[in-house]
Amino acid sequence: MSKQDIFKTVDELKDLCVDACRKIWENPELSGEENFGSEYYSELLRKEGFRLVVNEHVPHAFIAEWGSGHPVLAILGEYDALPGFSQKASCVREEVTEGGAGHACGHNLLGAAAATGAIALKRVLEADGLEGTVRFYGCPEEETLCGKVKMIHYNMFDGCDFAFSWHPMSVNMAFDTSYLANASFKFYYTGLSSHAGFAPQNGRSALDAMELTNVGVQYLREHVIDGTRIHYTTDSCGYAPNIVHPDAKSWYYVRAPHMSDVKETMERVKKCAQGAAIMTETQVRFELLSGCSEMLINNAFADLTYKNLVEMEPISYTAEEREFARKIQDTVAMETCARERRAYNCDGPMFETIALRDQWTRTPMKASTDSGDVSMIMPMNLFTAAAWPLGVAPHTWQAAACAGTSLGEKAAVWAAKALAATAYDVLTMPEEREKIKAEFESRRDDKYIPMI
Ligand SMILES: [Zn+2]
Repeated sequence: MSKQDIFKTVDELKDLCVDACRKIWENPELSGEENFGSEYYSELLRKEGFRLVVNEHVPHAFIAEWGSGHPVLAILGEYDALPGFSQKASCVREEVTEGGAGHACGHNLLGAAAATGAIALKRVLEADGLEGTVRFYGCPEEETLCGKVKMIHYNMFDGCDFAFSWHPMSVNMAFDTSYLANASFKFYYTGLSSHAGFAPQNGRSALDAMELTNVGVQYLREHVIDGTRIHYTTDSCGYAPNIVHPDAKSWYYVRAPHMSDVKETMERVKKCAQGAAIMTETQVRFELLSGCSEMLINNAFADLTYKNLVEMEPISYTAEEREFARKIQDTVAMETCARERRAYNCDGPMFETIALRDQWTRTPMKASTDSGDVSMIMPMNLFTAAAWPLGVAPHTWQAAACAGTSLGEKAAVWAAKALAATAYDVLTMPEEREKIKAEFESRRDDKYIPMI
């Protein structure tokens, strides 16, 4: 089948894709709570003739499989939302539900495009009578960076040969930049309560210990390797100021270019907490929640994806959509927009071309993803599609708003085409497969040990 025929197959699935984008956007679910999302996609793919496989150890995760034999192509879909980003499809900050969740990372689009791409690929293989297996992976808990790590641990990725994914962003780009490795952990402090006015001398403050840990970490920041990110949130357990806090908690993320750097920095953050506990005569307990690996890059895979991005018709926008994008952009700091416009050489509110093949070297990715672990066990590639205006970052209300409009939906349909086309290339071009596999073998780290 020609590329144009594959793109046409996706166009025929446009309503299905847009419907999925909207249904998931209207029903935002946090990591670990993806009942609606996992059922929605299971049913969608089952109806299309895919076989479903679930795993009792990983709730809300599933495999929908079609076809037989190798290569086995894994198209990864996600569907979780973020706390506190409930947002209407509006160009001003307006919640749907006060304090509710919202799709500020566009995973409603991510999953919809992956499912649409998998269905399109299945239809194409069926029409061509080609050997090979298409798998849609329903991947929960991406925002807490642990779903795919668990899925790997429970052997859900066994037998796969190649993985494909994409992410909504402000640009269209095939990239082979790495994401940062990450660890997520908590500290639980215990002290002694007392009346803060009447008898403070009898109290030992868990809150003080937590604050001193954070102060220690601010000093630590100067002495970690480049590219390290340390962020945290705190929980003072609801006590009032007139109580010496007997309990307090903090939740940390450490990110760094390699898993080994993350582990090292995490140990040093632990020392800050231990030191703070000594200073305040309190106790501290540590809990590692999750961790994920950096992304193993693959230039050959990115080259193949890039060829398809360039071959596809670019996304076109109506005057109304451009106006909406412009209004959204007006809510973002002017310098941020100017910086992105300069970096991508773009005047309009939406990025409407394909970023240069070497663009990533100028804009490396400083986030983390649990797809990193997938990239350690098989060749994996991902690309981005413009779902919101330049200057808008994921995890903002602006991203959540755009993910609920035709801006995001157009990105999803476009991404589905790229996923189906690249997977088709991998399936039908043995020489490309070999090139990608050879690069994977040369880069892979035999010492890959999952964080948990
Ligand atoms: Zn995301």
